[in-house]
Amino acid sequence: MSTNDALVYARDHRDAFLEDLKELLRIPSISTLPEHSGDMITAARRLCERLRSLGVTAEIIEGDGHPVVYGEWLKAEETPTILLYGHYDVQPVDPIELWTTPPFEPTVRDGNLYARGAADDKGQVMTMVDAVESYLRTSSRLPVNLKFLFEGEEEAGGAVVEAYVRAHPDRLRADVAQVADSGMFARGIPMLETGLRGNVYTEVYARGAAQDLHSGLYGGVAPNPLNALGHIIAGLKDREGRITIPGFYDDVQMPEADVLRSWQDLPFDEATFLRDEVGASQLTGEPGYTPLERIWARPTLDVHGIPGGFTGKGAKTVIPGEASAKISMRLVPNQNPDKIFELFKSRVLELGSPGIQLDVQQHSAGRPVVVASDSRWIRAARQALRDTFSHDAVLGRSGGSIPIVALFAEALRLDTVLMGWGLPDDNLHAPNEKLTLDNFYGGIDSTIRFWGNLGKE
Ligand SMILES: [Zn+2]
Repeated sequence: MSTNDALVYARDHRDAFLEDLKELLRIPSISTLPEHSGDMITAARRLCERLRSLGVTAEIIEGDGHPVVYGEWLKAEETPTILLYGHYDVQPVDPIELWTTPPFEPTVRDGNLYARGAADDKGQVMTMVDAVESYLRTSSRLPVNLKFLFEGEEEAGGAVVEAYVRAHPDRLRADVAQVADSGMFARGIPMLETGLRGNVYTEVYARGAAQDLHSGLYGGVAPNPLNALGHIIAGLKDREGRITIPGFYDDVQMPEADVLRSWQDLPFDEATFLRDEVGASQLTGEPGYTPLERIWARPTLDVHGIPGGFTGKGAKTVIPGEASAKISMRLVPNQNPDKIFELFKSRVLELGSPGIQLDVQQHSAGRPVVVASDSRWIRAARQALRDTFSHDAVLGRSGGSIPIVALFAEALRLDTVLMGWGLPDDNLHAPNEKLTLDNFYGGIDSTIRFWGNLGKE
């Protein structure tokens, strides 16, 4: 049986797979820093060459930004075609002094591989590539057809991949997408994400006097944009966490009762979560919902920064001429980002103060996504995860957004299987990012089984 042969091969080649992943992790492919653009090319070429060495047709697609690596293996007649997605770019490493070992010198400690990009997302990308190797080196064929789309701008806007997907719907035609850029629920408990929150990221600009003024000379008569923004922010969400924008909750569709019930059985300990992950004195949020429901199934609104005025040490009595507030909203099915932005904008303008000119801009938006949890794809993935981890997969959701999933749904009409290998404490985007080796190897095995379940032996 080719699946069994592939699993045996993967087990025998764990050390080689780890060394190969380390090579990719040594390339500092930080997409947001211009001085690393050469490293982006190096990483893309390495992935492209790796696919070619396995017999996959692969090429580098240039665009207005960092390249996309595209590949195809389409020789499994009458079996489904899966579009694989991952990203080879990584986040910056600051603050560098908090790393125990350098971010681009991959190091194994206590069963974990530490390096920038280990979990997000190079380690996850390589689970798919290594699964391909395991099949092609043992039976010269794959049980399904595969298309590969590995981008270099996931952490930097993703313009190149978006343009490519929109321009080539025929080339990218597939039956389902598989994204490896997510996580397990906890150690030993695999998860399939069946919903992702969307978001709308805005900035509210407030302008008062023509220039900064002294509060001794003008305080009491000059409009203050920061005070005005404070009033606006206070009018968007109440102290309990309910969003007070009229109509905001109208289209919210909660998950089915059985999904919500299954979340209650999850090993989620509120006290541990509060202590180890949040580190505050208490959790906040909408009354009447559990923390998981608030993160996975309810929309929210947060202020991220308020540029303006004097923020240095000590005192300076300035009334700023202008200021702004960066505010975003996480959306859930079936909220529409365009509609939400309009509701937000009307509410902000309604909350304006005398003498203050307001301008409400949208930086970005992404639709929330739901994946049908009873499809053949999810069934095949659940079986693969159960066989690998000896534990049923949690049908969870993610509080975050993965823009590519919304893009696949919209531009290619594709459902996505979100099967990922990170853990909540992997320190994504932070110092000491890691990937647990059990998850790396389990990810390869699960992927081998998933394709095997969908294809022909
Ligand atoms: Zn990622």
